[in-house]
Amino acid sequence: MLNWIGNSVSRLVQTQRDSDLLTVAQDFAHQKLAPVAAHCEDRGEFPRALMRELGALGLLTLPYSEIIYNDRDAKVPYTVSLQVLEEISRAWLTVGMSMSVHHLACAPLIKFGTVGQKERWQDTILSGETLGAYCLSEPGSGSDAAAMTTHAVKEGDTYRINGTKAWITHSGIADFYTVMVRTGVEKTRGISCFYIPADTPGLEFGTPEHKMGGNASPTGLVHLNDVVLTSEHLIGQEGQGFPIALASLDIGRLGIAAGAVGLAQAALDAAIEYSGDRVQFGQAIDQFQGVGFMLADMATAIASARSTYLDAAQRLDHDFHYGSLAAISKLSASDAAMKATTDAVQIFGANGYTKDYPVERYMREAKVLQIVEGTNQIQRVVISRALSKPVG
Ligand SMILES: Cc1cc2nc3c(=O)[nH]c(=O)nc-3n(C[C@H](O)[C@H](O)[C@H](O)COP(=O)(O)OP(=O)(O)OC[C@H]3O[C@@H](n4cnc5c(N)ncnc54)[C@H](O)[C@@H]3O)c2cc1C
Repeated sequence: MLNWIGNSVSRLVQTQRDSDLLTVAQDFAHQKLAPVAAHCEDRGEFPRALMRELGALGLLTLPYSEIIYNDRDAKVPYTVSLQVLEEISRAWLTVGMSMSVHHLACAPLIKFGTVGQKERWQDTILSGETLGAYCLSEPGSGSDAAAMTTHAVKEGDTYRINGTKAWITHSGIADFYTVMVRTGVEKTRGISCFYIPADTPGLEFGTPEHKMGGNASPTGLVHLNDVVLTSEHLIGQEGQGFPIALASLDIGRLGIAAGAVGLAQAALDAAIEYSGDRVQFGQAIDQFQGVGFMLADMATAIASARSTYLDAAQRLDHDFHYGSLAAISKLSASDAAMKATTDAVQIFGANGYTKDYPVERYMREAKVLQIVEGTNQIQRVVISRALSKPVG
């Protein structure tokens, strides 16, 4: 069933329940998020109460519905949860990205945790009340994430962790931190994954970075100063942390792609409305071919990026390999968002360059999507490796 919801966006859903979920998400986005987004971004106010409302609606933890209700029929396909993320991001990218980071932070425990770990922490992280942070990057290791130096020393049944993680979304406001830490000397095989509750002694946070956009969401340093954890906090095996981190990032890249499509769609929505109203040379500017073709190119890039992330999501839903398509989705959607938001500013003319209209914010927000969860150069590395013939 192909449903039409909202302003000319076709939605791919197969059941009435999934269609209803998208309607709930769209209503929440329009009624609660869109009206306050610009204000909160200007003031750097994170919408914690709204995140809890999203949680209460079940939208914050949608990819884990089957686990929450312990019912296979409750499973929400990634095609649907990502379209929800797109709708939320269309109203306010910061909230969409918070959802995506929370999914990323939950994934290691859900996928690789033991029965005991799940019994202890799963209800908390999937309650809709809590927010997680995902800590891979460090000041000296971004694209080369496995060069991390934050390290754990084993002392009997405990690990003592020291080091600093950088650029962490939700730094200082998260309820738990999923942290990659060096436990051995081998570059990728010497990394382990730990679950760290926010109130653990030794966890300290830097002041939030002053960013180009997305300032409602704090991004900053997470210091681990003699953090002592029992081995119960180790997710997966010792040395398994890097594959765990990369598996989570594949899903995260689809979240970035869906968020990017939502942001690009918001820019197109605004450009269509403005260009239909603005009159020059005696006619609405959307009647000039130069403007109409810009709108057409935006719509084409957005539809292509949406189809690509949905294709990857369908593969994920059916347990097919989707890693390289996740990289393609993230690359094409974030490039589409950067171009669409830049073109929207152009269509608004001088007004586009002011804070009186949303498009300058959209353009600033788009840039980060080409950087996070693997820069777009790193996506090309992932894609080209998948294309290369195996050696020998
Ligand atoms: C707002 C924001 C939120 C973030 N949130 C998180 C988070 O929650 N958790 C987390 O762990 N990290 C987070 N990050 C960090 C992000 O993942 C890194 O910034 C990203 O991986 C790039 O690392 P870097 O900034 O150190 O750039 P570098 O790795 O120093 O790269 C600099 C430039 O060199 C290029 N480059 C590097 N290596 C290659 C190569 N092999 N081939 C071609 N070009 C290359 C890059 O593409 C880039 O253009 C966040 C960053 C930002 C800005």
